Amino acid sequence: MTNCVIYVRLSISSAEESVSIKRQLDSCRKYAEAKGWKVLGEYVDDGVSATNRHPREREAFSRLLAANGYSVVLGWSLDRFTRRLNDFVDLDRDLNEKNAAVVTVQGGFDMSTHIGRMVVQMLAVFAEYEAATIRERVKAARAHMIGKEGRRAGGRPPYGYRHVPREGGGVVLAQDPETIPWVKRAVALAQDGKSPHEIAVALTAEGAPTRAHPLRRHEGVWQKRSIQMFLTNPALAGMVAHAGDVLRGADGMPVIREGISIMTPTDWRRMCATLTAPRGKKRRELTPDLLNGILVCESCKHPLIRAVNNTGNTYRCRWRGGEECPARNKSIRREFVTNEVVRRLLGERGEVFLWTEWIDSDEEAIQDALGDIEEALDRIAFEVRQTGADRIALRLREDALLDRRDSLLSHLDDPGAGTVLQISDRTVAAAWADADGDIPTQRYILGGQLKALTVDMLSGGAGVRFKPERVSVEWRDIPTGDHAPSKSQPLELAPER
Ligand SMILES: [Zn+2]
Repeated sequence: MTNCVIYVRLSISSAEESVSIKRQLDSCRKYAEAKGWKVLGEYVDDGVSATNRHPREREAFSRLLAANGYSVVLGWSLDRFTRRLNDFVDLDRDLNEKNAAVVTVQGGFDMSTHIGRMVVQMLAVFAEYEAATIRERVKAARAHMIGKEGRRAGGRPPYGYRHVPREGGGVVLAQDPETIPWVKRAVALAQDGKSPHEIAVALTAEGAPTRAHPLRRHEGVWQKRSIQMFLTNPALAGMVAHAGDVLRGADGMPVIREGISIMTPTDWRRMCATLTAPRGKKRRELTPDLLNGILVCESCKHPLIRAVNNTGNTYRCRWRGGEECPARNKSIRREFVTNEVVRRLLGERGEVFLWTEWIDSDEEAIQDALGDIEEALDRIAFEVRQTGADRIALRLREDALLDRRDSLLSHLDDPGAGTVLQISDRTVAAAWADADGDIPTQRYILGGQLKALTVDMLSGGAGVRFKPERVSVEWRDIPTGDHAPSKSQPLELAPER
């Protein structure tokens, strides 16, 4: 009497047409009964794709291989076992060692016969072809969606690049002559060991143009997040980000477009590794400062940076991008400006209730989220190729990320952004006293009230003859409406720029 085991598998992918576990089991049991075989066990892999996972790596199939006493592994169809020819060859070898062979209900294949083995190998070739076409179909669907929305995957081009029309429709990436020099500058700084934060500070000081954005309060101020985003974009190495990986040729190697690259893939990977690696030694932390990045030069409307001269700690204009600022390199004592700003804050806005306002579904937040998703996808593309990776979990996570990305992309053009307002029951003065000199909290309180803070850098020096009228403060409108003051909310700290 022949002993058999039943193997059934259901895929996670909806693109892969599947027959339910129950139906597979029923067919196999009936088939075994008709043949007069004794069923020693049933092995079920649920939610496992045949394309992404070698049979040996599947939980149930590996238990099946560990079991003994059977000569037939009965399955519903060949593609329940694998869709890859190479995996199929492995599987065949594993089962041969146990003097067992695959038999399928559908088509009645029997791998133990000579002719059956030939047919089975041929069909495995088709199975692999089928898996490849499914991948192509998924890619095509995504490409179609991108084409319909008139943009590449991942939204607008990375900083330093622009879209140019391509012959035959669509757009391709090209270097943007205006901004690519700043990308090169940032690369040089990164290769010099500077952190994203330090690069952001340097680019701000040197006047690298930021992208225009209606919600950005200080145009020209770089944030480390943006620096990280554009430096880790594979376009720098001439590669095109695509579906969580880079676009690859038929040989599996990344397609390199010399026209867009500013460095070699090796240099780029090395730079990315240093940018994202945890810093070994503690880096010099800049002490927090109340007005850093908030205080703007009246002459050029760019943020002043911190400096030190013989009068002590100062703010200085370093703007030399485009037209050089007439107040460039002029300084003003930090202490004087800070005291004056605090005096006016408490005097003019001390009794105002703190409020929090944020823009719902704002484009910058979406772009940030998209950046995070691209990063996570890159990590998954790397991890999934590592030995011992939990590929199922990674693929599921990848699917979730791709869905989230598609949904975010569809929100980008959605003008339904709204302002959310929350008024607390604490006044500016009370919160300021509670902050007890904690600079990040004070920055949050001040930043919440300010519309603009400028200082006249031309009339007067840095020193002791400080005239308070050199500081101009413009407050935000106090929100009105039927928003009842909420119970005190924990302060969310605004990041220092
Ligand atoms: Zn200036």
